[in-house]
Amino acid sequence: MSRLAVVTGGSRGIGRAVAQLLASRGCRVAVVSRDLEAALAAVASLDGGRGSVVIHVYSIQMYNSVLNPGDHVALRCDVSQEQDVRTTFETIQKTCGKISYLVNSAGINRDGLLLRQKASDMRSLLGVNLLGSMLTCRAALPGMMHNPGAAVLNMGSVVGMKGRAGQSVYSASKAGLEGFTHSLAKEVASRGVRVNMLIPGFIRTDMTTGLQESASLLPIPLGRVGEVEEVAQAAVFLLLSPYVTGHALLVDGGVSLNM
Ligand code: NDP
Repeated sequence: MSRLAVVTGGSRGIGRAVAQLLASRGCRVAVVSRDLEAALAAVASLDGGRGSVVIHVYSIQMYNSVLNPGDHVALRCDVSQEQDVRTTFETIQKTCGKISYLVNSAGINRDGLLLRQKASDMRSLLGVNLLGSMLTCRAALPGMMHNPGAAVLNMGSVVGMKGRAGQSVYSASKAGLEGFTHSLAKEVASRGVRVNMLIPGFIRTDMTTGLQESASLLPIPLGRVGEVEEVAQAAVFLLLSPYVTGHALLVDGGVSLNM
């Protein structure tokens, strides 16, 4: 059976492009987002698969009978919620089998100067961007161990590496994720699981709609913002490179050189 990839945040933006590229390379993909309709729409556009099946995490039994071995699936899950993540990953493993690849692309931004930032926004940012990836890794890893070629990919940001006024909490969530990636790579290497990170610069997605003007003020050596397909290429490179682990790869058109 083809390899199974779970992509959080696979309904839009970078995650959706990664899901599409993985599907075009023959993977079955489980797309996870808070919005089941959006996840289903993403799944419906994927290559391959013998159809798409929506799974609401609390009603899996009815889907076991209709799920074909090649299906992509869509699941509703808030990655910042422990029970949601636990139930979702149990569902994926029961209905779709062993996970080979976990891509943590779910993320949010809540920009603003720290002095004006609400504690509730700080919690949301850290909850989705940092805790969310920790929870999904914890839920997925036991089933990924000793599954040859298994790999995790976390989504960092140049802002986590270089900092940016107005994004201090977002930046902290991504910097934390980088430390998490390096440590986890050490923890699970002996079990045959690789853990890497992508560090995108400014990529054209819903998340950066309001930022693109300010991005254009930054000198990007390659002279333009990036496209989601360009990040997806790097994601698949890291997922499929058997001797790369604990690595954080910049996909930023060189912008970090000027930050
Ligand atoms: P988008 O806003 O386009 O997509 C975000 C995705 O995450 C959506 O699928 C969204 O689905 C999902 N998501 C958000 N919150 C949750 C949650 N709590 N649980 C589950 N899914 C969730 O963002 P991008 O594609 O631009 O960003 C993807 C990742 O790349 C993020 O981690 C971001 O921080 C990072 N990044 C992006 C950059 C850029 O320039 N675009 C630059 C650097 C890093 P839904 O709302 O349905 O839940």
